[in-house]
Amino acid sequence: MTILAPADPASIVRGAEILREGGLVAFPTETVYGLGADATSAWAVARIYDAKGRPSFNPLIAHVAEIATAQREALLPEAAIRLAAAFWPGPLTIVAPAAPGGSVCELARAGLPSVALRIPDHPVALALISALGKPVAAPSANRSGHVSPVTAAHVAEDLSGRVEMILDGGRATAGLESTIVSFCDASPVLLRPGAIAREKIEKVLGAKLSAPARAEVMAPGMTASHYAPNARLRLEAHELQEGEAALDFGARLAALAAPGRIVLDLSPKGDLVEAAANLFAYLRQLDARGAARIAVAHIPERGLGEAINDRLRRAAAPRV
Ligand code: AMP
Ligand code: MG
Repeated sequence: MTILAPADPASIVRGAEILREGGLVAFPTETVYGLGADATSAWAVARIYDAKGRPSFNPLIAHVAEIATAQREALLPEAAIRLAAAFWPGPLTIVAPAAPGGSVCELARAGLPSVALRIPDHPVALALISALGKPVAAPSANRSGHVSPVTAAHVAEDLSGRVEMILDGGRATAGLESTIVSFCDASPVLLRPGAIAREKIEKVLGAKLSAPARAEVMAPGMTASHYAPNARLRLEAHELQEGEAALDFGARLAALAAPGRIVLDLSPKGDLVEAAANLFAYLRQLDARGAARIAVAHIPERGLGEAINDRLRRAAAPRV
């Protein structure tokens, strides 16, 4: 059931409760409608990918209400803080190395060591984020491949029955996505042109924005900076070979494992949302436990299985 409510104070409080419980709330921003979840919960973020039907885990923008929060989540260089002061709240997204102790979960970052942050310039978005008191992960509130929605009715067409609540705050005015600037390299990089013109940003920086490295544009998930386990992965495993640890799904491999074998099950009950929520943490755990080779159980190619398999295939690909 999806609650479609005018964005008054009472429904914003209800929306924050839904987010706190791991639910999904679509809300207006000045760019387009966002599909929001608690950015600190991998479970809640997995539901975003599921609701959108995304075939891969691309990193999500974490929406915050204050610059101080952004500074706790990311290591913002002085130039980034200057941009934030000039354009926030507003349609500028800043990407920077995630701060140690930051709260945005790894699934929201799609395994990257960086985090994308912005303060939206919309009273409803700000009230919702403040009421939750945590960063809100929010891509555009449409099914994957559809156009970004600028009204609550557009959101309902795509996501009715897939989200707990849609806050109707009228028409999103910019209709254009945020400009994304990254501070992960020696000089600031324009990752995506958007609602704030490059010239305006360059003026505040007093420097030109660089173009992204080509690989980054073409396939964000394939860049070396994405987390890949040290262990070698063998996908679609139906049995366990000598010395292999297991990354299981639906208790398939666990049944074959002798005692003492390392087996982590992404979802013993075979739930793909749960599996997505556990994916990055389990790959890290297997590394931490020193697994050199990992047999990965078959994961069905439906729903979130497509994105999970995409990520696992990248992790299993030979490295240079
Ligand atoms: P949107 O489509 O407006 O939700 O913006 C998401 C886009 O922000 C992604 O497709 C990336 O291009 C960019 N992005 C988000 N997080 C990161 C990150 N940690 N590092 C690099 N780019 C990011
Ligand atoms: Mg979109």
